[in-house]
Amino acid sequence: YFLPILGLLILCGTLVFWLMLKRRSPTEELERALRDGEFVPYYQPIVDADADRWDGAEVLVRWRHPVEGVIPPDQFIPLAESSGLIVPLTQALMQQVRRELSTRLGQLPHGFHIGFNLSAAHCHDWRLLDDCREFLAAFPPGRIILVLELTEREPFRATPHTFRLFERLREMGILIALDDFGTGSVGLDYLRHFRVDSLKVDRSYVAMADEDVLSQHLFDNIVDLAQRLSLTVIAEGVETPAQNAYLRDHGVHHLQGYLYARPAPLRDMLARLKSPPSR
Ligand code: C2E
Ligand code: CA
Ligand code: CA
Ligand code: CA
Repeated sequence: YFLPILGLLILCGTLVFWLMLKRRSPTEELERALRDGEFVPYYQPIVDADADRWDGAEVLVRWRHPVEGVIPPDQFIPLAESSGLIVPLTQALMQQVRRELSTRLGQLPHGFHIGFNLSAAHCHDWRLLDDCREFLAAFPPGRIILVLELTEREPFRATPHTFRLFERLREMGILIALDDFGTGSVGLDYLRHFRVDSLKVDRSYVAMADEDVLSQHLFDNIVDLAQRLSLTVIAEGVETPAQNAYLRDHGVHHLQGYLYARPAPLRDMLARLKSPPSR
């Protein structure tokens, strides 16, 4: 009976070894997903309330996992950032957006804005220039306006190097939006140096804009600051008609939120763009 037992032992050993190979670390799982093209763009359109038309869209990444289904970015962006995978992930996303938009260009208004969320690591990286150049080269000049969203939560270090990088981006006609505005503490200096084009007022301010008087003062101050600096103000997370009315009455004309449209794959967003924005 020695041989069958030996056979069984070898079989078990092989099985354990195989299982150990299969069990990857979270970082390895991210790398695999990147290779397999599981990160996909969703789009959430932004309304220009003055012109009563769709002004652009923000790209929000999703992980389409073969077993887990659609995973939201909050669950993997932090790991992508700490493991150094955020730059290749963003590059892959930009390439995918470029490819799918260039085949459906006829369905987008002229000068449609496309915004990408950038992590701080990418903002020090000269490859960003090539990534943006490659993206814009797929469209006739001015057909698509590229917007880079930088979060105020994690303001990056300003060095002569980053100044030059941002100067070059500006020369290429790329717009910079300061995201989650009101949650961090970037000073006026930062805003001046980086010559931001727009502020995206954080959802937490939008949620309380129609509530009490103190919140309204906070909100009004942000809008007032933005207008003094000649920046476009975009409100994110607009959910209710009351918020919508308050925002419009207080000088905010660019609106984004579930009230107008949820983030969705390109095909669904294009269907939504066929009718004018309605509340
Ligand atoms: P964010 O840039 O502040 O994006 C807005 C988030 O608010 C999105 O969440 C969006 O789905 C959600 N949202 C939009 N309208 C409403 C609304 O009316 N009500 C509520 N409650 N939420 C609304 P999402 O897609 O889960 O993304 C979360 C965050 O993940 C983003 O926050 C952004 O910081 C990050 N992120 C997403 N895609 C990327 C990416 O490609 N690269 C990087 N670095 N970060 C990304
Ligand atoms: Ca954003
Ligand atoms: Ca935001
Ligand atoms: Ca946010």
